[in-house]
Amino acid sequence: MKIHEYQAKDILRRFAINTPRGSACFSIDEAVKAAEQLGGSAWVVKAQIHAGGRGKGGGVKLAKSLDEVKQFAAKILGMTLVTHQTGPQGQVVRRLLVEEGVDIRKELYIGLVVDRSSRRVCLVASSEGGMDIEEVAAGTPEKIHKVFIDPLAGLTAQDAEDVARKIGIEESAAAAARTLLQGLYRAYDSTDASLLEINPLILTAEGHLVALDAKMNFDDNALFRHPDIAELRDLDEEDPAEIEASRHDLSYISLDGNIGCLVNGAGLAMATMDIIKLYGGSPANFLDVGGGATAEKVAEAFKLMLRNPNLQAILINIFGGIMKCDVIAEGVVAAAREVKLKVPLVVRLEGTNVDLGKKILAESRLLIISAGNMADAAEKAVTAAASAAESAMGGA
Ligand code: GDP
Ligand code: MN
Repeated sequence: MKIHEYQAKDILRRFAINTPRGSACFSIDEAVKAAEQLGGSAWVVKAQIHAGGRGKGGGVKLAKSLDEVKQFAAKILGMTLVTHQTGPQGQVVRRLLVEEGVDIRKELYIGLVVDRSSRRVCLVASSEGGMDIEEVAAGTPEKIHKVFIDPLAGLTAQDAEDVARKIGIEESAAAAARTLLQGLYRAYDSTDASLLEINPLILTAEGHLVALDAKMNFDDNALFRHPDIAELRDLDEEDPAEIEASRHDLSYISLDGNIGCLVNGAGLAMATMDIIKLYGGSPANFLDVGGGATAEKVAEAFKLMLRNPNLQAILINIFGGIMKCDVIAEGVVAAAREVKLKVPLVVRLEGTNVDLGKKILAESRLLIISAGNMADAAEKAVTAAASAAESAMGGA
């Protein structure tokens, strides 16, 4: 689960991390009032969306007067902000963060993520903050410093000080840097975060370290331990199909292709998307119905997939083990009856109760293209999608 910058900063303050003073605003009036209350002579008006790169997209503005705060708030609230992380369709801005403006002397980068190969939390630090860290990693990898943190010891004072020195924090700020880095690790660890990124962490003109930006993601499987964090979920930022899927406990991710996939098992679902690509097609979604799904759940999954207006073919790829082929078939038939199926349906069934499953599909009189194996299924789905696309465009 993702949260907004202002929510992440609220959490970080509980771990004694310095952040600029500020407040979340939902209207232009609130933004101006917030700036008045903050006082000072410079404010930052920041779009709150679940994506980074807002600055470059025009979603972060430095205002030098209350009038400018008003202008920027009016411009940013309601805008469709396009950044490299939102995709070309962008994301509508519904919330703002108005903060006191801070004098930046130096911009640094700090990230915490789980490193799967070492099975540890990895602290990533760089002197090159404020820009795309991916570019720094690609162009000047020597400027990226990593610490793999022992889960029992936590981030040690020694490691924290070493990394602070490597990213150019001077001795006078060494103790503050150590406390900050250890605080960030504690925040990450104790909230079951999956990502914590401070880009930029800044050194102010007075030599203070301040988290100017903050991004936190959390492990969905651990949210039950953090009801206060679960409450921060903002459904406006999430894909409606994915919200619906989570209601039915289905793993569903919308993609930009035109072949819907309904598969059992995450690994098989990934392999199915790969083989569609291999045959020159493009998947419209990732969908894993799981092992013990009922026919009703399969029907919900099927309907979810059909909401996608780009859909031009469906590929059902089931290897029945715990999941039984007849249950899948019943679910598909029920859903297809309910929502008049208009796109070609390619089915590859194998495993437990496969004959019964095939019989249910055959007797349903749905127009089904059956496939003998995965490659055959992918090839047929790609061909079917291509001809559906062609006839939709009025071609031959
Ligand atoms: P992002 O573009 O979504 O990562 O948003 P950030 O919160 O990182 O803001 C983008 C950039 O705006 C930062 O890298 C800073 O250069 C600038 N910025 C943000 N807040 C302030 C501020 O208080 N003072 C100044 N001078 N610049 C700021
Ligand atoms: Mn940033």
